[in-house]
Amino acid sequence: MLYDPKKVLSCIHNTYNIIGRQRHNLPVYVFFRTFARQSNQVFRMMKIVFATNNAHKLEEARQILGKRVETVSLRDIGCTDDIAETATTLAGNSELKARYIYDKYGLDCFADDTGMEVEALEGAPGVYSARYAGEPQDFARNRQKVLREMEGKENRKACFRTVITLLIGGEMHQFEGRVDGFITREEHGTGGFGYDSIFRPEGYEVTFAELTAEEKNRISHRGRAIEKLCAYLNS
Ligand code: IMP
Repeated sequence: MLYDPKKVLSCIHNTYNIIGRQRHNLPVYVFFRTFARQSNQVFRMMKIVFATNNAHKLEEARQILGKRVETVSLRDIGCTDDIAETATTLAGNSELKARYIYDKYGLDCFADDTGMEVEALEGAPGVYSARYAGEPQDFARNRQKVLREMEGKENRKACFRTVITLLIGGEMHQFEGRVDGFITREEHGTGGFGYDSIFRPEGYEVTFAELTAEEKNRISHRGRAIEKLCAYLNS
């Protein structure tokens, strides 16, 4: 665990403030007990399960959630189950995954679900983004299907949406992140995954697949949803 110097100072400050009021005939153990309570509040590290085994997502979450939250994966808690995503909305699927972990392991956790929604395709592929071209899941075939369906369409507007469900102390909270953009007419770039090479975020001349991972994470749907989760956990 890393200590933030500002937090150490605030812990000492709080201890002195509390015992300052009762300094006369203060038993030594009271000082240590007060300090221990304060430091426990300041340094306690929150542990939370991210219901994923995707290394890329885990790294992104760890970067944003920082050092006060220990983010562990499904593998880390010994979960190898294939959690069914049978809901018809992103919010529903992320809740299904989070509840599965919370009910089975009793651990605070969060889960995400993402979809790309294309205006001219009435929101498709949406919640079915992962398997848009059928089984087995294949990113290239999914992209080709979208490009085929978008042939001749002038309205190229699309967005990515991520919904995160957090279950903490039995309470549920949901956070949404969204990025707007356009479907290109052909693939550009080799970075990223999924639909990255056919999605150009608004205000950019290049696709997600042509941005560095850091550039993409800064503006991405998932990054934005995790930022909201982080703000909540730190509040
Ligand atoms: P998941 O809910 O994160 O597994 O996302 C479902 C599907 O959406 C994935 O299989 C990808 O096809 C697509 N997807 C999710 N996030 C991204 C992204 O950041 N870029 C491109 N495609 C994505």
